[in-house]
Amino acid sequence: MKQFKTESKKLLDLMINSIYTNREIFLRELVSNASDAIDKLSFAALTDSSMNVSQDDLAIRVSFDKDARTITISDNGIGMTEAELEENLGTIAHSGSEAFKAEHGDAQGDAMDIIGQFGVGFYSSFMVAKRVRVVSRAYGSDQAFAWESDGVEGYTIEPAAAGERDGANDHGTDVVLYLRDSTDEEDTDRFLSEWGLRELIKRYSNYVRHPIQMMVTKSEPVANPEDLPDDAPRYIEHQELETVNSMTPIWKKRQSEVEQDDYNEFYKSTFHDYTDPVRTISFHAEGALSYDALLFIPGEAPFDLYSKDYEKGLALYSSNVLIQEKCADLLPDYYNFVRGIVDSPDVHLNISRETLQQNAQLRAIAKRVERKVKSELETMMADDREAYEGFFENFGRGLKFGIYNSYGMKAADLADLLLFWSAKEEKYVSLREYVLAMPEGLDKILYAAGDSRERLAKLPAVTGAVKRGYDVLLCTADVDEFMIQAMRSYHMDAVAGDAENPGTDARDLELTNVSTADLDLATDEEKEQAEQATKDNEGLFAAMKTALGEKVASVRVSANLTDAPAALATEGPISLEMERVMMQGPDAGMAPRAQRVLELNAKHPVFGKLAEAQQAGDEEKLALYSSLLYDQALLVEGLPVDDPVEFAKNVCSLM
Ligand code: ADP
Ligand code: MG
Repeated sequence: MKQFKTESKKLLDLMINSIYTNREIFLRELVSNASDAIDKLSFAALTDSSMNVSQDDLAIRVSFDKDARTITISDNGIGMTEAELEENLGTIAHSGSEAFKAEHGDAQGDAMDIIGQFGVGFYSSFMVAKRVRVVSRAYGSDQAFAWESDGVEGYTIEPAAAGERDGANDHGTDVVLYLRDSTDEEDTDRFLSEWGLRELIKRYSNYVRHPIQMMVTKSEPVANPEDLPDDAPRYIEHQELETVNSMTPIWKKRQSEVEQDDYNEFYKSTFHDYTDPVRTISFHAEGALSYDALLFIPGEAPFDLYSKDYEKGLALYSSNVLIQEKCADLLPDYYNFVRGIVDSPDVHLNISRETLQQNAQLRAIAKRVERKVKSELETMMADDREAYEGFFENFGRGLKFGIYNSYGMKAADLADLLLFWSAKEEKYVSLREYVLAMPEGLDKILYAAGDSRERLAKLPAVTGAVKRGYDVLLCTADVDEFMIQAMRSYHMDAVAGDAENPGTDARDLELTNVSTADLDLATDEEKEQAEQATKDNEGLFAAMKTALGEKVASVRVSANLTDAPAALATEGPISLEMERVMMQGPDAGMAPRAQRVLELNAKHPVFGKLAEAQQAGDEEKLALYSSLLYDQALLVEGLPVDDPVEFAKNVCSLM
């Protein structure tokens, strides 16, 4: 018996004793080796016309024997000579393990890490097998050799036995795995079934370019069941060779060559969705870094999208072999809804999360993915508004969190993808549309935040602004105001003018809560009136503030109000809606409170009543009126009154 080289031994030891959970990848590794061997033979045949290779016959075959507890992976590829068996399987010669050697030298790393980082190639067989026999016959040779090992100390190489690859032109390799017994930790029995193997091939090797064949059991109805006795079986079973993998990677094709229906079917079967995607994005790169990418924007949000169990990521393939089912580094969090595949021969086959992060190639692909998704969404918004609105209702929240979580750094990328409900138009508008439709004289983007559109639309501050011809964006998602605070302002690029439109310069517009106390929307005349009213009624405001106490920071006249007698506004960074959201959060006790300002409408008859009470020196009445106005302003905002019993009593006392 020949001894394994030291590095090989170390790797094998890790492999066998590791607690690595993803043992099933051995099949992917062996199939990819078989596929490589077929590639090598095809390539040789292409360049050497004396070789007689029929490309159509080249295939990988997977079979199992339940009683002997073996799985066999066979190919009719280039095969290995005795020397090659020694060289390739006796030492760590392959790429992934080279990296292992370079990186770790003699150090004993954590097993999981190492196996995760540098796949494992052929030796991964030992994760499930207690013994492996490789019978190989090199193309052009008439003698097959058998390599055999228990993966511990060493291996043997001998001429193959009679019946093993001794037919005419029987080149290629059989890898026979003698499976370990099933344990609680690893169920190896599942590999000894048609269904189990098929599943693994579909999952990991579906797009290998060569056919992966399996003998499968088919049952067919008996032709003339009437002629049979009652207890005779109505079906006959037979064995049939079937190609299990789909072979042609749809993502390699140009989008113009593929029917949308085929994309839809592929999407639904691959990503287990029932609805068609709303958008399909396919792109390709060639050169120093080559890859094919196929992305989908789902039609519906998966039920767990906003839960912490949801895993974002694109499937990563290298030369049609699955490396990682969900490569998170390929997608930013705010595009976490995107599903799809990236396939690049330049990305190393054996790679793990840790190394991926440092992988410049992946970063380059991720950047392009992000740009592509963004431009697709922009196109969709422009060309198919209805679909975009549906998309936004499903996934808009993620985009908003993208701005919020990046402290506004991503605002430039994401702001133009946002939609808001317009109080004036009663439909969705983008920030750009808002600015383009903005009347002269307004230099801000106005919004209101609360829990329902209907209620917001009726807020005095909103109806007042709309009456003046200004639009107000109605924000009803919890994240909205926090996002707006993070982005602060909206930058709009210059718009070129044309025959009908004068165009605009680039502008930066602040997003402002319409309930902000010092908002300046009124006409000069109204402002003057308000100033006058303020001057004339200083005593009144002071008395009302005294009556309301800590409930408000101040009482004042607002020129902005049109119809309502009074409204609540806020000073400072915290709005009423933000306060409400934070009060529902885990840190409710520590949440900062909004600074409330009771705003009065000096044009409203109620204002006259207040002034009257104050002039008459009726403190009791003034306190009652103040309290009522404050409470009704709270109710209009959709907030609970502080003391409902007191409020009810006050209303009755008026009657
Ligand atoms: P890698 O595929 O990264 O080179 P592996 O450990 O998977 O590493 O395989 C080691 C080497 O063994 C391969 O490079 C190849 O030369 C050889 N080999 C493995 N399987 C086969 C096969 N089925 N046919 C021919 N050669 C093979
Ligand atoms: Mg390999």
